[in-house]
This record gives sequence, structure tokens and C-alpha cells, in this order.
Amino acid sequence: MKALLMQTSFYWDKAIMGGPALKLMPNYINMPYVEIKESFPNLLQKINPLATKTTIGCINKCGFCGVPKIEGKFQELSGWKDLPLLCDNNLLAASRKHFNKVIDLLKKHEWCDFNQGIDARLLTPFHAARLAELKSPMVRLALDSMDYVDDWEKAYQCLRNAGLPKKSIRSYALIGFESGPEEAWQRCEYINAHGVKVLPQWFHSLRAMQKNVVTLKQERLGWTEYERTLIMQYYYQRGKRNAKILSDYGWRLKSNQTLVRTRSVPHS
Ligand code: SF4
Repeated sequence: MKALLMQTSFYWDKAIMGGPALKLMPNYINMPYVEIKESFPNLLQKINPLATKTTIGCINKCGFCGVPKIEGKFQELSGWKDLPLLCDNNLLAASRKHFNKVIDLLKKHEWCDFNQGIDARLLTPFHAARLAELKSPMVRLALDSMDYVDDWEKAYQCLRNAGLPKKSIRSYALIGFESGPEEAWQRCEYINAHGVKVLPQWFHSLRAMQKNVVTLKQERLGWTEYERTLIMQYYYQRGKRNAKILSDYGWRLKSNQTLVRTRSVPHS
């Protein structure tokens, strides 16, 4: 670390480290010339100058998520930077008083983005009506498993009934966690069939040392590097559904909006 610091900086003789990875693997960084810092003023805005956070933590403990370990118990903050990109992990777990304060502050902005997603299970007509008061909001749901499809559907209908256009709704879809490619495609296409942009998210274990790789566990679920890049590219780069692309990749879209495999695909 000392050699790296000497190569890259005239001013610093130590590196300051912190963040989620360090909280999840505190014993991993144990070296001289490194100082561990729990908090850093305005760190979020250094990463994105438009980002803010009005709560910390989450009331849930989803098996794939590091938030409960990293941030701990759910807390409402009494004050925050008045910015349009919200990074709350579970804003809807907050009291109505807090939620109203957040919405009232956001109303002056020309757009806003509930970037970390909102919990479909907690969304009520009250929340939806308040979200519909905002100018160009981006409300992000998540359908991480078909076990929650009824909650997702209810939340989607609730937002639409409150007047949110489809273009104001997006949905994350965790893939590579406990299911294989077939299930991931079906779930993403379920979201897509609602006119909602799908944002697949590749699962990384909480102790992952590399990004965007297919682990042995994921291989056992049926994933290959080819399958991983295919689904990510399809939804992020190609955008709209395209029967030819699907057919080139060995899929066919049936009239009931479900996908069927027509031939096997090469392994990476
Ligand atoms: S609700 Fe969201 S933030 Fe909370 S534990 Fe589950 S995935 Fe994480």
C-alpha cells in the first residue's frame, strides 16, 4: 500500500477506506498505511452530487441483501440534503409524517428518482397518491421472486390508479439468486408485459470478490456467462422486445407473453 501511495500521490501517506464491502468483510483489509473510517462528511454527494438519503437501514432481512448488516436498524433522519435522487433502502417503512415531509420537499424539484426502489408490499393508495403529486417521478419497484408477484401487481395497479404514467415506473429484477435463466426471463417478461422497463440485477454474494461473474452455485442453477450477458444486454442495450433477437438467441415468445426455449445455447 505504501508503494501505491508513493506512486499516485504527493500529499497522502495513508489511504482512507470504508464503505459496504469493508463492513461486510472487516478482516479483509488489515494492512499498514490504511485508516478505516466509519463515516465521511457528504460522502453520498461525492459519489453523486444529486443523491440524498432520508432514512438508514431497513425493517426487512432479505437473504440476498447486505443492507441489514451494513446499516442496521431502520431509522428516520431528522434532516437531509434537499436533493432529487433518493437513496433510501426502504422509504415506505417510514412513518406517514416522515414520508409526507420527503414528498413536500421533493415537490419543488423538476424530477425525482426513488433510486433504491420502493417496497411493493408496503405501498398503499396513500403513498401512491402522494407520489403522483411529484413532477416527473421515477418510481422503482422490484420483483425479485415470483413469490411476490401479487404484491408487485397490486403496487403497480395502485400507482397507475393514482395517475402515474407507465414511463414513471421501472422495476428491478434480481437474477442469479435462487433460480436459473428460464425463471429470470419469465419474470422479466412479466414486468415487460406491463409496459414497465425491466432492470435486471445480477446477484453477488455478500462476500463476492469479483463483479459480474457466474459462480459455481449459479452454474448449478443453469447460468453460463453467455446466459448472463444475454439477459443483461437484452434489457439494458436492446430495450424493446424484439422477436428476431429472441429467436437468434434460441427463445420464442408465445401469445400468452411467456418465453419458451426453442434450442440450446452455446456454453461460455
Ligand atoms: S427490503 Fe430491500 S433493503 Fe430491505 S432487506 Fe430487503 S432488499 Fe434489502
